[in-house]
Amino acid sequence: MVGTRQALAEGLVTFGVFPGWHVCWNPAVDDINRWLFSEETGAPFSRCVRCAWPLAEIAAPWLVNKEYVGCECVLEYAICKPCRDSVTDRFSEESKESVRVFLEAEIDWEARTREFMMAANPVERFGACISCRTPRDQMRRFAISALYDSGGHLVNGALPLLICGECIAKVTAGLSEESRQIWREFIRDHFRGPDDDTDFDDDILGIF
Ligand SMILES: [Zn+2]
Ligand SMILES: [Zn+2]
Repeated sequence: MVGTRQALAEGLVTFGVFPGWHVCWNPAVDDINRWLFSEETGAPFSRCVRCAWPLAEIAAPWLVNKEYVGCECVLEYAICKPCRDSVTDRFSEESKESVRVFLEAEIDWEARTREFMMAANPVERFGACISCRTPRDQMRRFAISALYDSGGHLVNGALPLLICGECIAKVTAGLSEESRQIWREFIRDHFRGPDDDTDFDDDILGIF
């Protein structure tokens, strides 16, 4: 009765019946759309985190990014492409080049594309890191990213993908201090209050 257990676990997570009680529902979820829902609302993302415009009304694609530590989602957002570009365009040329080099050199796109095309269920994309191929259940932390077209359909291309924390750290290692600062500001402005000065974990990079 996986379905029942899953529904129960999702209900508990969604409604927060037992705060602090850990329900790790993700490994059981075989519907990619459910993975890409907001954990906060239990429904698809409806607004861009930056401009707050309803995604359905924006004539542009958008991304859903979620970051996990263990089975807990620690950061999640949808961002429209114009907003995403306006953040990443501020990254230094050196940083953009470093991300490009990682994406080209550290990911075997030919092999991944072949696997993705063969996959019976697109959720298989979330079974292992896009780069180092470590299985998800052996990761301490990871991020998933998916692209939707302007009509709200999930795009099956280079995304959706899952990347492990260690590979994210490799990407962020190549970012300039100036680019890291832009990322920190994005997090501070959209997820934290101005007085929140808890340690910022630099390894997390949700925008590609
Ligand atoms: Zn936006
Ligand atoms: Zn990896």
